[in-house]
Amino acid sequence: MHNKVQLITYVDRLTGSDLNGLTQLLSHELDELFAGVHLLPFFYPIDGSDAGFDPINHAEVDSRLGSWQDVKQLSDHCQIMADLIVNHASAQSPQFLDVIDNGKQSQYWPLFLKQQDVFPDGITDHQAEAIYRPRPSRCFSAKMLKSSQKINFWTTFTDNQIDINVEHPQGQAYLEQILSLFADNGIKIIRLDAAGYAIKRPDTSCFMLDETFEFIDKLSQRANQLGMETVAEIHSHYQTQIEVAKRVHRVYDFALPPLVLHALLANDFDALIAWLKIAPRNCLTVLDTHDGIGIIDAGPQGDKPGLLNEEQINQLVESIHHNSGGQSRLATGSAANNLDLYQVNCSYYDALASNDFHYLVARAIQFFSPGVPQVYYAGLLAMHNDIDLLAQTQEGRDINRPYLDQDKIHQQLALPVVKGLIELIKLRNTHPAFNGQFHLAGTQQQLELSWRDNHNQIELTVDLANQSAVIRHALDGKRQEIDLKHLLND
Ligand code: BGC
Repeated sequence: MHNKVQLITYVDRLTGSDLNGLTQLLSHELDELFAGVHLLPFFYPIDGSDAGFDPINHAEVDSRLGSWQDVKQLSDHCQIMADLIVNHASAQSPQFLDVIDNGKQSQYWPLFLKQQDVFPDGITDHQAEAIYRPRPSRCFSAKMLKSSQKINFWTTFTDNQIDINVEHPQGQAYLEQILSLFADNGIKIIRLDAAGYAIKRPDTSCFMLDETFEFIDKLSQRANQLGMETVAEIHSHYQTQIEVAKRVHRVYDFALPPLVLHALLANDFDALIAWLKIAPRNCLTVLDTHDGIGIIDAGPQGDKPGLLNEEQINQLVESIHHNSGGQSRLATGSAANNLDLYQVNCSYYDALASNDFHYLVARAIQFFSPGVPQVYYAGLLAMHNDIDLLAQTQEGRDINRPYLDQDKIHQQLALPVVKGLIELIKLRNTHPAFNGQFHLAGTQQQLELSWRDNHNQIELTVDLANQSAVIRHALDGKRQEIDLKHLLND
């Protein structure tokens, strides 16, 4: 993976068109900005109940976006990351419909995981409660077969996403088919979506077990054989994240987004500094994604203290609601249709009260933190919350999944904050010191992040007391200073 900035995007929601439209955009308006693109699910259908994370046919490109040939063509421009939706498929998939019709006689019967596969003697309340899950209710859905028999299928996410039995040869063949298709069509990086939930064992949390690590390891080795890298997508307590990072190739730093917000909104770098001292180095960094801002990633869990304590977390969530004029409140938790109640749904720009300076500082901190940075399309364009889309769909996460078109993109690209962000992206992509050693220093009010190799150095200093942020760097013997406030005026 290149140590350069990557874009995270839906094909249709950014371009208003298809894969060819995205290729055009990346070679014109966004030329040379992104070394890689995480294409959010582009499989059939892109508009299911979980915006593509509920594939009816994971092996088919949704024809509204184009074909595998178009994916391959895009891969000539940049490294493509694609989701391997490891854990589940749609209840409308032909395989599951066949199971409904034919029950045990269906050839696909073993493909889907049932409660009885893991709990052949039935499940106790205690066992069911111990299962770690994103949904508030139990992770089983009773489905009626054509024969009128009711079967409890494992559904970690929604009733429409049926878990795959990844330990059965059929589940393995299902994943192998998609891996091969990815490799044949130019995909270089695989995001192992929700991989932490893939393996289930009785009397455990069924989340990130030793067997899960083994499973991720095997899958990653297979991906490597086919010339691809993997990234494990796991939201969890920060200590779990550190453990996971030791055992997989790459993880996401999901603690960074809430910690950067906390630093800028509460005027306090302490928690961010504590985290950056111990944060995994083999990570991708994000501030925003197609999901919400993770609370579990920075907060306490049970009796395990968080990077932020309960009060700081509550304060952070309240500040986001306040900064967004109450909009995020309408999109978060049980207020809207939400899969994950432990995420706050809000555009990152609005979470920072659309303060251009704070937004650039947040991005600068992200780009100077260890890891390969990813920028979500709505964040690239400093989008406000899409309150109309939220009202229309009642999907909490839609508040930060806007549908754009060429005009809107051009309008946003002309904003000083977006121009400033683009300058930061270019600097992150081209300055050689980012391939050197990372150094961290600071106090509650001041943060210094720097990178050095034998010949070059680049340093970000943010001072909360004076509300200043400066990047100093030396390149080919020439010293330069960039004041982030000036970046907004140029
Ligand atoms: C994705 C979510 C999705 C879930 C279920 C997550 O990790 O990021 O958008 O809803 O997996 O597939």
